[in-house]
Amino acid sequence: MTDIRLGIVGVGKIARDQHIPSIAKTDGISIVASASRHAFVEGLPQFRSLAEMLAADVEIDAVSLCTPPQVRHADALLALKAGKHVLLEKPPGATVSEIDPLIDAARSAGVSLFATWHSRFAPAVEPARAWAADAAIESVHVEWKEDVRHWHPGQDWIWEPGGLGVFDPGINALSIVTAILPRKMFLERSTLSFPANRAQPIAASLAFRDSEGIPVTAEFDWRQTGPQTWDVTILADKGRLTLSKGGSVLSIDGTVVSEEPDAEYAGIYRRFVDLVGSGRSDVDLSPLAHVADAFLLGRREIVEPFL
Ligand code: NAP
Repeated sequence: MTDIRLGIVGVGKIARDQHIPSIAKTDGISIVASASRHAFVEGLPQFRSLAEMLAADVEIDAVSLCTPPQVRHADALLALKAGKHVLLEKPPGATVSEIDPLIDAARSAGVSLFATWHSRFAPAVEPARAWAADAAIESVHVEWKEDVRHWHPGQDWIWEPGGLGVFDPGINALSIVTAILPRKMFLERSTLSFPANRAQPIAASLAFRDSEGIPVTAEFDWRQTGPQTWDVTILADKGRLTLSKGGSVLSIDGTVVSEEPDAEYAGIYRRFVDLVGSGRSDVDLSPLAHVADAFLLGRREIVEPFL
């Protein structure tokens, strides 16, 4: 089979840190061009926009949209209508309802749409799902606390409407929890802390229950300096499972049972090649729906300005 010829759109932090190196290591897919207003991938044809790339004389089968969520829908629709397979960075969009038209467009064009959740490809996620599948779960708790200044320097879009604020990382935790819990959950309470000068929250406290009434709580905070925390803990009859470092370390009852290096984006691209090859799509909106619920139910508190 010949390689999927991929155009990469939005050459920013995640495109450089993860997409470009991971694609280079994945069989069956190659980057052939980039579209970005200010940046480019060295040595390849470069365009200022997706529209320019599609109009040019470069053969492209698929695009990866690595732009901020607020501009993703328009590009996704353009690419799907042009008959290209589409990979969406997380979150798949700025709203929940904008995704359905993309699913319809992919179906009409006979191409694959992949709404990625990179944290689901962390190595400890599948073993944690298998552990939880036959456990009598008593409670689940998430602590996702990081330093926004370190991880998002100069990214203004995350503070704008649709940028999600602290849910930009928090949605990764929700993508893990929704992948490993055996039952669906729904939100009962949320408190969102908005800096006085910002449109999106810097911290959030969430309380869910699953369909059997088991509590699932989450604390997201972007003000954490020093050690960073990306942990999910499940208490069950058979013990305490902790998934830490964003899903790369798995511990049972405090003992580390596996620790593997990050390979999330390699997993994403292997899956994309597989989806395109088999003519399927993969779109799960549950993490985004939980975030939308957090805004719907959210009690707002104003905290000190973020400068
Ligand atoms: P970023 O560094 O800001 O890069 C996004 C790029 O998109 C920008 O450099 C910009 O390149 C382009 N762009 C197009 N329209 C834009 C607009 N209206 N406003 C701002 N930029 C625009 O952001 P990122 O960290 O790579 O994040 C992009 C997506 O990846 C987000 O959805 C994020 O949640 C996800 N993600 C990020 C990380 C991470 O660690 N940073 C991890 C996983 C997932 P031009 O100016 O050249 O057009």
